[in-house]
Amino acid sequence: MKNKLTLFSLAALLLFSSCSQKPEAKYIFLFIGDGMGASQVAVTESYLSYLDGNLGGSQLQFSQFPYLGMCSTYSANSIITDSAAAGTAIASGEKTNNGMLGVDPEGNPLKSVAQVLKDEYGYQVGVFSSVPLNHATPAAFYAHVTSRGDYYDITKQIPASKFDFIGGSGFLNFAPGDEEKNSEEYLEEYGYEVVFGQNEFEKANSHKIVMVSNPRKDKREKVANYAAEEDELVSLSQMMKNCLSTLDESKPFFIMCEGGEIDWDSHANRTMPTIEAILAMDEAVKVAYEFYLKHPKQTLILVTADHQTGGVSVGSTDYGYDVNWPGIIEQWEEAGKADNFKSVEERNDFNKACGIGWTTIHHNGDHVPVYAIGKGAEKYCGRMDNTEFYIKLLPE
Ligand SMILES: [Zn+2]
Repeated sequence: MKNKLTLFSLAALLLFSSCSQKPEAKYIFLFIGDGMGASQVAVTESYLSYLDGNLGGSQLQFSQFPYLGMCSTYSANSIITDSAAAGTAIASGEKTNNGMLGVDPEGNPLKSVAQVLKDEYGYQVGVFSSVPLNHATPAAFYAHVTSRGDYYDITKQIPASKFDFIGGSGFLNFAPGDEEKNSEEYLEEYGYEVVFGQNEFEKANSHKIVMVSNPRKDKREKVANYAAEEDELVSLSQMMKNCLSTLDESKPFFIMCEGGEIDWDSHANRTMPTIEAILAMDEAVKVAYEFYLKHPKQTLILVTADHQTGGVSVGSTDYGYDVNWPGIIEQWEEAGKADNFKSVEERNDFNKACGIGWTTIHHNGDHVPVYAIGKGAEKYCGRMDNTEFYIKLLPE
C-alpha cells in the first residue's frame, strides 16, 4: 500500500511538473539581422561615433544589452551557411543543407520554435521582415520545403501555421499561373486579411493579418506586388508597432523580426545602405525595448544574425589605420542617399580607398554575435551554436 501511494504521488508530481513547465519569458522578441556579423555592427558604430565626434564608443540600442554570446553558423553540408539552413537551425534546432527550409537533410519536416510555442503553449506569433515575407528567414518559422525557391509553396503553408501576424515587402512569385489563385486570394480564402500598406492596415479588423509593405525602390523589379499606389515605405519599427497592436498583450507572444536588407546590401558591398539597414532594425529593437521596460520580468529580447555577409571590416590595406568617414558620407549625400556605383568593383575601389574593406560578395563562415536582455537572457552568454536557440527558448 505504501509503495502504491508513493508511486501515485510520484506520478502526480511528474504530471504536475510537466504541466506547470512553460517557457521562461511570456513575451519573446527574436531579431535576426540577415548577414549582420559583428563587423557590420562595428562599422555601424564607427560611423555613429564619427557623427558624435569621437573615434569610437557610440552604440546601437541592442549592443548595449547586458548579455553577449557568439554563435557558430555552419550548416549540415557547408562551412558557410545560407539563410535557409541558418534560419532552419535557429528556428528548429537542427542543422540542414543549404537551400533547404524547415526540413532536415532527408527532407523530413521540422517544427519551428514559433510553431511549438503556438501549438503547445498558446503563444501568439508574429513573423515579419523588411524583405519579402516568403523569403528564407521568415519562412524558416512557418514553412517546410526542400528548396527555398519554391516561393508559392511557401506562401501556401502560411494558413497551416495559424500565425497571427505575418509581414514583409511583398511576395515572391505572387501569382504562379492561370490555374492557381494569386497569393492574396489564396490567403484570404483561408481566413487571413491581406493588407497592402499602412492605410489598409489601419482599417483592418481581423486578428489574422498578412501585412505587405513596400520594398525599397531598387528592389521593386523583383517583387511585383506591394502597395503600389502608395510611395511610403513601412519601416521595420512601424511593422513592429503594427504587429504588437495586432497581438493581445494579456496573452504570451513570440515575435521574429528580420532585418533582411542587411544581407542584400552586404552582398553588393554597399557600405552606407548596410549601415542604414542596421539602423532601421535598431529602430525596431527600440520599440521592443520600450515594451521590455514596461514588462522587464516577463520579456526576453534577442538580437542575432543568421550568418555574416560580405566580410566587411573597419579598415583596409589602402587606407591603413583610419576610416575616411567624411569622404564616405560626402559621396553618399552627393548621390542623394542612393547607391550610384556602376559595379561592385567600382564601389569596392571607393570603399577600400576610404578604409572599409569587403572580402567577398558571398556569405562567410564567421561566428555571429547574440545580444540579449531580459528574462532568461543570461542563457545566451558565451559560445553557442545556432541550433541552441530552440532548446534555450523552450522549457527543459
Ligand atoms: Zn545572403
